[in-house]
Amino acid sequence: MKAGEFFTPGAMGTIEARSTYFVDNPQFPYCKGCGHTQILRALDQALVKLRLDPAEIEVTTDIGCVGLADALFKNAHTVHTTHGRSTAFAAGTIIADRILGKGKLKAIVMIGDGGAMIGLLHLVQAAQMNVDLTVLLHNNFVFAMTGGQSSAFSPLGFVTTTMPRGGIVPPLDICETVQSCGAGFVARKFATDRDLPATIAEAITYPGFALLEVIGLCPVYATRLNKLSGSGLKQIVESQGRRTGVLFRRDNRKEFTLVYREKFPPRDVPTAESFITVNFSHNLTKPVGLIITGTSGERVQSSAKLLCQAAVMSGLQTTQKNDNPVTQGTGFSLSEVCLSPRPILYLRR
Ligand code: SF4
Repeated sequence: MKAGEFFTPGAMGTIEARSTYFVDNPQFPYCKGCGHTQILRALDQALVKLRLDPAEIEVTTDIGCVGLADALFKNAHTVHTTHGRSTAFAAGTIIADRILGKGKLKAIVMIGDGGAMIGLLHLVQAAQMNVDLTVLLHNNFVFAMTGGQSSAFSPLGFVTTTMPRGGIVPPLDICETVQSCGAGFVARKFATDRDLPATIAEAITYPGFALLEVIGLCPVYATRLNKLSGSGLKQIVESQGRRTGVLFRRDNRKEFTLVYREKFPPRDVPTAESFITVNFSHNLTKPVGLIITGTSGERVQSSAKLLCQAAVMSGLQTTQKNDNPVTQGTGFSLSEVCLSPRPILYLRR
């Protein structure tokens, strides 16, 4: 991102048909033949088909190779989150949008089998609550980015770097799991399915929690260790007795925020504006971007937060993006701050 470049309502496109939501000439950061590339292309085709407003799409990614997808999207909000937490982040933004905002946001979570295993409770609870979000679970049966270790989704007999003689623990059936927790839309597809974009579009338009497990190949580990091909994946799924396609659709359950609204009518819920008191004025006529850097522990991010708070109290819109190493108190620390007299919808790379 170049600091200072923003999409604001005046600058962004309307809901005209577009041929892609990706950056120009996207460079997929995946190995040749990787299922992630196929799934991302299918998602893009689904978004094109639905003609969604870029300002109303939020793609939230998790850890692992799938988490590299953020940089591919130009016409969507992207959020990269911590291990397994993508569903919780997306649920939070959807609830905030439905209760405090315009209620038009479409949240799409991109999570691998590793992230889903680590964040299983978030998936379970989002299904229980029936929050209106779509989870695209990229299942390639291994922790690929960290070296091909087994996940809770690795099939019986599947060879991984941690189970060189093949898995001996039955794999989790995520579709059954979330369905039993109240999910309204559950589907299982292969990354190579021609109708994958249509199923993704159906999941996105479903008004409640939707999970689509997409089984794809990790050529680096799955193919090498198991001598697999695309048809090999299908044989594995069939041998598990697992069906594919749209497995379940429930249309008699209210989405979480509708239930919330009935319990807490709008008059009882504070608006976003009611949290903010504007005590000062500003003379900004256009957005500006600032980068504050230093060493971790020097209060770099606290300083940026104070700046944003002062800007909000002056009637400005702000965003703050932080970056620092996992090890606290050492290494670099960085905050990107944007201040704008107009709403900041998303930042342009
Ligand atoms: S390691 Fe596997 S999952 Fe990761 S990019 Fe390569 S093929 Fe894809």
